[in-house]
Amino acid sequence: MSEEPLLSEVLSEFAHTLVTDFPIQGILDHLVVRIVDVLPITAAGVTIIAPGVAPHYLAASNESALQFERLQTELGEGPCLEAFETGSAVAIADLRAETRFPRFTPRALEAGLAAVFTFPLRDGDERLGALDLYRDRTGRLNATAMKTAQTLADVAAAYLHNAQAREDLHDSVIRSREIALHDSLTGLPNRILLLERLDHAMLRSRRTNRLAAVLFVDLDQFKLVNDRYGHSVGDELLIAVAERLSSTLRPGDTVARMSGDEFVILCEDLDGHLLAGEIAARVGAAIAEPFTLSGHEIGISASVGIAFSGPGKQLSEHLIAEADTAMYQAKRRGGARHQIVNLQEQARSEHLVELERELDGAASRGELRTVYQPVVDIGDGRVTGVEALLRWDSPAQGVVPPSVLIPVAEKGGLITEIGQWVLEQACDDRHRWKHAESDVDQIAVSINVSAHQLMSAGYADNVAAVVAGANTDPTLVTLEMTESVFIHDAERALVVLNELKCLGVLLALDDFGTGYSSLSYLKRFPFDIVKIDQGFVFDMGHDPASFAIVSAIIDLAHTLGLQVVAEGVETVIQCADLASLGCDVCQGFYFARPMSADALAALFSQHAVNGSVFLPTLAIAS
Ligand code: C2E
Ligand code: MG
Ligand code: MG
Repeated sequence: MSEEPLLSEVLSEFAHTLVTDFPIQGILDHLVVRIVDVLPITAAGVTIIAPGVAPHYLAASNESALQFERLQTELGEGPCLEAFETGSAVAIADLRAETRFPRFTPRALEAGLAAVFTFPLRDGDERLGALDLYRDRTGRLNATAMKTAQTLADVAAAYLHNAQAREDLHDSVIRSREIALHDSLTGLPNRILLLERLDHAMLRSRRTNRLAAVLFVDLDQFKLVNDRYGHSVGDELLIAVAERLSSTLRPGDTVARMSGDEFVILCEDLDGHLLAGEIAARVGAAIAEPFTLSGHEIGISASVGIAFSGPGKQLSEHLIAEADTAMYQAKRRGGARHQIVNLQEQARSEHLVELERELDGAASRGELRTVYQPVVDIGDGRVTGVEALLRWDSPAQGVVPPSVLIPVAEKGGLITEIGQWVLEQACDDRHRWKHAESDVDQIAVSINVSAHQLMSAGYADNVAAVVAGANTDPTLVTLEMTESVFIHDAERALVVLNELKCLGVLLALDDFGTGYSSLSYLKRFPFDIVKIDQGFVFDMGHDPASFAIVSAIIDLAHTLGLQVVAEGVETVIQCADLASLGCDVCQGFYFARPMSADALAALFSQHAVNGSVFLPTLAIAS
């Protein structure tokens, strides 16, 4: 076969390597074998030479080629290096006459080499190495053969260059994938990699019927470490925690960093649910060991939430969310513990989210109403005021009590709007009693205000506008609030309370005796009324300590010039006891339950005497 068609065949084979993922080694192995078919030679080899790296042979068509390649790289001398250095082909038709390579030539001759032709592997101005053609008999290669050889060397160089670029790209893709899948601070897998592994784990768990568990780990009070020691110590702590977590786990488990101080552990092939609890306990204990970082000894704990793969758990994201919920459940119990997801509690919190959605716009849809409970003078049963209490007639849930709806409204940012509605409604209703047949004039109305509402911007201005708009005497409006208003920002609370006082409204401290019950609040803040919590009233009858506390509160409040209201009075005995302790007014089922504005108007007209309303207080007088 002539050289021409063979050359074109070899070239097309090389072209093919471009579109396949042919590795460098494959290209060279192919080159050296095929060139022996095309040209009148006995063997061929390739040596790669790169700056700063010792030349190394990469391919040889047979044993003898291998020997000659090795010889040149070992000696650092020979026609191949010459071709590389000069960038031109070196043709030695009779090695016996060759004097340029004093160490290579005699050993090559001895090994049977008679002629050698080498061609630089050129890539533009760069050179990658040389293609060496060996022959066991002397004689030249004709001009066509020399040209063919250089063409093949050039083509091989171009493909080598391509393959090298491809390999570099591949390496850098792998490197960037590694970076994209790992957290840069701790080196742990990140959320993306975790999700990948979790998807895989869930499929496996379905196939093998063995459990996979997700442990959501959140450091307790991590922010304090940052605040106290600075962010670099915070970072050191996260790295140290990552190391401890990794060393606590079995080799097949995954620990990933989600964000900030949140880590997630994935454990597969568990034999039972208990095992996850044991792992969580180990994790908790490992983290509880103090850390020494930058000379500081730092103690920290973690809250761990656990969720399991199982029927109906299709999505990795859901499993993480469940473990996250469980972690919050652990935190709510004070942290430094682990908790398996409690689906009932989760359902409750989902229910609250649902409620929040439904509550939005409830006032404008007419679903809210207020009921009123009379507040009665303990001496003669005269109604001195009423307390407005909120009810929500939810189309989906029925009547929702304020103990449920107020926290939902606070969380959903709806409390300001709802509180405003209650205030307006109560002022309006007050007018209806005033104009009722009984003509009762001096009935005050109490409105409960939540901490969020009180602290909201412009609250006092809103109250002023509503009270003025309803043409209500501000001294007949009482705003009730609990001690929670002082907890976050007592200074601001004081400012708002003083603004309200300036309007002329009265202020009552509600549920006194629960919460912090600090007597200093009574002194520091401009209250007019203190309402003793119904729990104390309830306990008074059977607990001498409660009796003594109620007595002390009444005395102290009077000393400070405050009026005392007792809440939750249900029995005649409680009423008599409170009267004996000097309590001023009472409120409770004993006198009247909360009722609608219409029912209240009817009650007022029934019991009105000369512009006042008296409810029966049968036993008190006796
Ligand atoms: P609170 O202000 O201490 O209201 C008294 C609660 O005790 C009312 O419950 C009332 O129905 C109940 N109660 C009255 N007398 C008795 C009694 O003799 N025995 C018993 N066992 N309970 C009695 P309600 O209406 O469920 O309100 C609960 C709490 O919700 C209120 O406690 C108040 O803190 C809050 N709240 C009610 N309406 C509103 C409102 O419009 N805005 C805000 N922010 N909170 C409100
Ligand atoms: Mg109240
Ligand atoms: Mg109360």
